[in-house]
Amino acid sequence: MQPDFFKIISFLQDKYPIAQIKILTNGRRFFYEEFSKACVNLGKVNFIIPIHGFDEITHDEITRVEGSFHQTVAGLKNIMHARRIGQEVEIRIIITKLNYKKIKRILDFVHKEIPQADRLVIIFLEYEGQAIKNFKNVKLSYADFMKEFKIIKPFLGRDKEIRFYHFPLCVVPYDFWPYLWRTLRADEVTFLNQCEKCKMKEFCLGIHKNYLKLFGRKEFQPIRESFLIESDNNYHHPIASVKKQ
Ligand code: SF4
Repeated sequence: MQPDFFKIISFLQDKYPIAQIKILTNGRRFFYEEFSKACVNLGKVNFIIPIHGFDEITHDEITRVEGSFHQTVAGLKNIMHARRIGQEVEIRIIITKLNYKKIKRILDFVHKEIPQADRLVIIFLEYEGQAIKNFKNVKLSYADFMKEFKIIKPFLGRDKEIRFYHFPLCVVPYDFWPYLWRTLRADEVTFLNQCEKCKMKEFCLGIHKNYLKLFGRKEFQPIRESFLIESDNNYHHPIASVKKQ
């Protein structure tokens, strides 16, 4: 919608030639083939597009824009079709009370309809801005989401990379730890006194400060078991593999 979009991207590419440019968008304008081709022709850019449901009803309920599912999915397919070698396409699912019980159907949909996407990222909602305004409607705790990991497990390693953002370690089964990424800024998270007793603290993202204000601290219990951790020394991806000791 920004009329100077292409000029801005070209400016950035000239000024910062080694920077990785990621276009994070609802993807609706990619519905228009001309536009999606023009974006692909920008060269060294990657695309990140969220999907909130598995059909028009479940997706449009969250975006509050009728027809958005249709445009986003068609847009994703246009980009997938036109993209150049080296251009990545990432799909994000931001989980809230409105869609977390539908996670299997959303994953099935992505697996079937957009199998060539490079990456799928499941993001725990950050309680900020609109999420606080609509707290009653979107309210979801880590404890609520815990059961869903079992449902997600068969999708790991299927056809695309899967990542999880915004999850502290103690609210996730240990076999999922290698899929967790540390993506919140240090000033957005905190650790509790009890975290000092946790054997995994050095690998943990910490807890979003607003989450603690809204849900309290009960869910976060120090991990006392020992694990064999392999790390590839990437701050953002602290655990490469894990085994129980
Ligand atoms: S107890 Fe604290 S440091 Fe340990 S995993 Fe939970 S939040 Fe992270």
